[in-house]
Amino acid sequence: MSKTSIYGLTYDELKIWLMEHGEKRFRADQVWDWLYKKRISNFDDMKNVNKDTRDLLSENFVLHTLDEEIRQESKDGTIKFLFKLADGNLIETVLMRFHYGLSVCVTTQVGCNIGCSFCASGLLRKSRDLTSGEIVEQIMNVQKHLDSVGKDERVSHIVVMGIGEPLDNFDNLMNFLYVMNDDRGLNIGARHITVSTSGLAHKIYDFADTDLQVNLAISLHAPNNELRTSIMKINKAFPIEKLMKAVDYYLEKKNRRITYEYIMLRDVNDHKEEAIQLSKLLHNHRHLAYVNLIPYNTVDEHIDYQRSESSSIQEFFETLKGQGINCGVRWENGADIDAACGQLRSKQIKKSKAV
Ligand code: SAH
Ligand code: SF4
Repeated sequence: MSKTSIYGLTYDELKIWLMEHGEKRFRADQVWDWLYKKRISNFDDMKNVNKDTRDLLSENFVLHTLDEEIRQESKDGTIKFLFKLADGNLIETVLMRFHYGLSVCVTTQVGCNIGCSFCASGLLRKSRDLTSGEIVEQIMNVQKHLDSVGKDERVSHIVVMGIGEPLDNFDNLMNFLYVMNDDRGLNIGARHITVSTSGLAHKIYDFADTDLQVNLAISLHAPNNELRTSIMKINKAFPIEKLMKAVDYYLEKKNRRITYEYIMLRDVNDHKEEAIQLSKLLHNHRHLAYVNLIPYNTVDEHIDYQRSESSSIQEFFETLKGQGINCGVRWENGADIDAACGQLRSKQIKKSKAV
């Protein structure tokens, strides 16, 4: 059996594992500190951990399962990483710079089964879920890259918006979130972490029942079922009414603002009429709602879709505002590199098939 990544364990799991293997309680604190504060790359670098324990760890776990295949750096400081997993699959991770800090976008699955008609990730069906270790390692690799540059920069925010549907990989997602949030390690505040879902309503209930105060974003993209089903086939299984019921439950449990993502697709969902419908849909939730208008990044394979005109985006924005809905427009980072989610990966896969 191949060894698993040590980054897949939460602090409690690590502590239990070590104690079951005859180690003292404090050992977990030491190991955790080496992993997440000192960020070593080799078990033998754990200086205050005795040799027997280091051997025990290296016999059972690995510290590296991801290899950096490509690193593209944009003029605005965005860095896109393409990682190769142990089984040869490729995934993407993106570091973005904002005035409030450094945010990393992580991938949760190899491909995606939701199959939204505009998305590059959905072109390649899911071949498997990522393990929690593989999700944590994405952040660790980015942080280690920053450490190596030596400017004392820290990943301060996380968006779970890379390839895949995070709520379809729920347990591994949760382990990842607990590891990131742990104040003995990276200590990334739950309020600095956002999980984006295409709207798996039944999983939104489970997410609401967790004890983490992580932000939730829902990819809505259309204000009525007909339009939403035409661009997101998941809407057949979880139509807007079902989704909004799950939203009610989430709001009742968490009382936290939800972000609704809305891709601006030219002449598809960007008319004033849809803006009015959207504000009606969110009217009762408007105190805990924020609409993020996302200018569409064109994807070579989806020639049917174009980015909305700036004037349509502006009008949509103003209509929502005028109806009392909080909203903003998210302009992209890394425009000069393969910006759209899943693009670098799909390009690389196409290239390797061509040779
Ligand atoms: N599967 C989850 C999270 C990953 S996608 C979800 O769908 O929410 C993250 C966000 O990027 C989603 O809102 C998705 O709709 C959006 N997205 C996908 N392709 C895009 C593109 N080409 N341009 C702009 N946004 C895109
Ligand atoms: Fe999957 Fe999200 Fe892309 Fe839809 S938008 S195909 S859910 S990654």
